[in-house]
Amino acid sequence: MTDIRTILHRTTRDLTAGGSPSPRLDAEVLLMRFLRMDRVQLCMQPERELSEEEAAGFARWVERRSLGEPVAYILGDKEFWSLRFEVNREVLIPRPETECLIEEVLRFYRPPGEGLRVLDIGTGSGAIGVVLARELPAARVVATDISPGALAVARRNALSQGVAGRMEFFQGDLFAAVSGDLDIICSNPPYIPEGVYDLLPVGIRNFEPPGALIASPDGVAFHRKIIREGAHRLKAGGRIFLEIGEGQRDRVAALFREEGGYGDIDCRKDYGGIDRVASARRI
Ligand code: SAM
Ligand code: GLN
Repeated sequence: MTDIRTILHRTTRDLTAGGSPSPRLDAEVLLMRFLRMDRVQLCMQPERELSEEEAAGFARWVERRSLGEPVAYILGDKEFWSLRFEVNREVLIPRPETECLIEEVLRFYRPPGEGLRVLDIGTGSGAIGVVLARELPAARVVATDISPGALAVARRNALSQGVAGRMEFFQGDLFAAVSGDLDIICSNPPYIPEGVYDLLPVGIRNFEPPGALIASPDGVAFHRKIIREGAHRLKAGGRIFLEIGEGQRDRVAALFREEGGYGDIDCRKDYGGIDRVASARRI
C-alpha cells in the first residue's frame, strides 16, 4: 500500500537509517513538494493513494536524500531572507547566518539607498546581492564570482526577484572584473581551513562546491585579499562587511588594523552566539 501515511512512515524510517538528523521533517518537506500539497493537505489526506509512477518518482528523491544530498538540492531551491532562491550544485546553499551580514549592512544604510554602489564578492546563488538590491531599491549592485555556473544561477535569482535591472554580474577573481569606486563591499568568501574541510558533514563535503568553502590553512586568505584591495576600491566613509568562521574574529580584525585606512572595526555575532560578521569603515 502506498498512501501518504504509509509513505511518510516508510520514508522517515529510511532517512533515519540514511543518517538524516531530521528524518520526519525531511520526509514531509519532500513529499509536500513532490505532491504539490501544503502541510495541512498532507495531514488531512493520510489515505490519499500515490500512483505507481508517483511512488517510483518519490522513491528516487528519498534515495538521493538517503545518500546525504541536502534537501535544498533535491527541491532546487532554498528560502533565504523569506525569499525563494533557486539553487543547484554549482552554488553554496545560502545559510541562515548569512542573513546577519545583511542585517548588519542595513543597520548602517537605510532604504532606498539612493546613489549607493554595492559589491557582493563570491555571490554564489546571489543571496546577498539580490537581497540588498531588494532592500535598497535605489542602489546599484555589482555581483562577482569565479564560477560561471554560480553566476548563471545568481542571474536567474535576480530576474525572479525583480532586481536584474539594477544588478550587474561579472565573472572573475575577487575584484578583477570590477571597475569604479564602491560604497559598500560585502562578501561571504570561502573560509573553511584546508585541514577542517575533511571533517565537514557528508551533505556539505560530497555535494556542495569545494571552491565555495575551502580557503587557506588559516581560513582567512580571501578576507586578507579583500581587505587589502578593498582599501583602494572603497570611497572614503564606505564600509566593508565580511562573513567569518568561528574563531576568525581576532585575525580578521588584525588584518583591518595592519592594512591601515580602516576605522570602526567591529564584529557581530550570529544567533548561535558565534562571531560572524566583521565590518569596518574606510576612513
Ligand atoms: N554569497 C553566497 C552566500 O553567501 O550564500 C555564496 C558564498 S560561498 C561561501 C563563496 C563563493 O565565492 C562561491 O560562490 C565561490 O564560487 C566564490 N569564489 C571562490 N573563490 C573566488 C574568487 N577567487 N573570486 C570570486 N569568487 C570566488
Ligand atoms: N557556513 C558555511 C559552512 O559551515 C561555510 C561558508 C563559507 O565558507 N563561507 O558550511
